[in-house]
Amino acid sequence: VKRASVCCLARPMVSLSAALLARSVLLLPTGARRVGFATMSWIKEVDRSGVTFVNSFTDPAQMPRSTLPEITLVGRSNVGKSSALNCLSGRRKKVAQVSKTPGRTRLINLFSVGKACMITDLPGYGFAKVSVEMQEEWRKNVEKYLRLRDNLRAAVVFIDSQREPQQVDAQILDFLMYNEIPALVVATKVDKLKSSQLQPCMAALRKGLQLSPDQPIPFSSVTDTGRKEVWNYLEEMCTSGNGRT
Ligand code: GDP
Repeated sequence: VKRASVCCLARPMVSLSAALLARSVLLLPTGARRVGFATMSWIKEVDRSGVTFVNSFTDPAQMPRSTLPEITLVGRSNVGKSSALNCLSGRRKKVAQVSKTPGRTRLINLFSVGKACMITDLPGYGFAKVSVEMQEEWRKNVEKYLRLRDNLRAAVVFIDSQREPQQVDAQILDFLMYNEIPALVVATKVDKLKSSQLQPCMAALRKGLQLSPDQPIPFSSVTDTGRKEVWNYLEEMCTSGNGRT
């Protein structure tokens, strides 16, 4: 995948080394600013309280403010984002069902995780059939969301472990980097891979999307693979000052 400027995202050209430097800088602690705090680890907090749907919003300006760190979930439709949210919640009752109801698929859905954090589920991107106007609307709305949410600390970018690195995923990573949002890349549906395929697929995604050596995180909503790792990474990213300051 060629990582370069993306006209629809209005991103200036950056050299590969500048992009890599920027990403590594973004992932380094920058002098902590801790937003909110959990009295117990996030994984324990989510096991205790689960993930609760708060509401859906068309306009990011209508979203309630929170002092808790916020994490946003992004990914192409069908990548397994809703299943992952249900898996991350650790409850039988599906929290992400709501994101799937017709009419809500273009909205920003807000969830809370006890005293740990807030989660937003952004509309899926990269629909092949979506018009240029819709893509433009997605970009504008998401940019507004990123601008307004001071407590946003990290984004989880879901990619399909079975697929080659996609240009649109590289674009979203560039878009997040440009907006100074640290990204955690999660490779979904790893239960569909043979064990001999797992490492080569992760390596291909790492290389194609220029990820750090510890990413992507292999994940499966069917087997719960990666659930604990994702929560631990998110807690680390959000509470050690790695988020934007
Ligand atoms: P979304 O559009 O990104 O929210 O994707 P969904 O969560 O609705 O998942 C899309 C399809 O992939 C559904 O048929 C899911 O059952 C399937 N799926 C999602 N996650 C997994 C997984 O970890 N393993 C397997 N085998 N299938 C999955």
